[in-house]
Amino acid sequence: CGIVGYIGHREAFPIIIEGLKRLEYRGYDSAGIALYDGKDLKVCKAKGKVADLEARVDSEITKNGTIGIGHTRWATHGVPNDVNAHPHSSNSGDLVIIHNGIIENYVSLKKELSKRGYIFKSDTDTEVLINLIEDIKLKENLKLGKAVQVALNQVVGAYAIAVFDKKKPDEIVIAKLGSPLAVGVGDNEFFIASDASPFIEYTKNAIYLEDEEMAIVRINKPIKIRKIKDDSLVDPYIQELQM
Ligand code: GLU
Repeated sequence: CGIVGYIGHREAFPIIIEGLKRLEYRGYDSAGIALYDGKDLKVCKAKGKVADLEARVDSEITKNGTIGIGHTRWATHGVPNDVNAHPHSSNSGDLVIIHNGIIENYVSLKKELSKRGYIFKSDTDTEVLINLIEDIKLKENLKLGKAVQVALNQVVGAYAIAVFDKKKPDEIVIAKLGSPLAVGVGDNEFFIASDASPFIEYTKNAIYLEDEEMAIVRINKPIKIRKIKDDSLVDPYIQELQM
C-alpha cells in the first residue's frame, strides 16, 4: 500500500527503507525492495514489518545501489507471505514492478499469458501485470515505457506502479490510476512515493501525477509525462511543498 523509489546519485537503500517507514500509517502486511548496483538487480522481500525486511536485507543482499524501488503491501490477491510480497519480477528476470491497487481482469490476462508459456510464482494480480508488460515488450520489440503504456491500456483496475528494467538501468517508469503517486524532483535525481513524506527533506519540488498519467524518470534528463490513453505529452506541474 506504499511505494517508494529513487534514481540518482545517493545510496537508495536508506531513502527507501526510511520512506517505507513513513508510509507505514497507510497499513500493510509485508514489504520488499529491489536495488540496482550498476551490475546486479537484488530483490529482498519479507512478510511483516519494514523492520523485518531490513533485518533480512542485512543477511541476504548487499545494500549498495543508487537506483531502487520499495513497497509495503496490503494484500488483495494472494495471502500475505514472502512470495506474494512485492517487488515482482518478470519471467526473464529483467523487469521488476511494485504496485498498489488491483488489476481486476488479471484472471483472463493470466490465462492468456499461461498459454504463451508464462509461469507464475505468486498468487498476485501484480505478477500478471509485469509479465503482460514483458510479453508486449518482447513481442512488439518496444521500449519499456511504451510496453507499460500498451499493457495499461489492456488493464481494468486501479494502480500506482513503478517498473524498472535491468537491461535499461537509467530509468524508472511510473503510472497512476486511482492510487496516489508523487515525484520529488531533485538535482539530477528523482524520488517516487505514495505521498511526499519520504522525500521532503531532500527536495521541496513535487509533481503529483494525475489519474491515467505515466512518466519516465531518467538520470540527468527532465521528467517526461504522458497520458496513458492517447499518448499526449503533459507539461510537468511542479509544486513547491510547504512543510
Ligand atoms: N493487488 C496487489 C497485491 O495484492 C497490490 C496490493 C497493494 O495495494 O498493496 O499484491
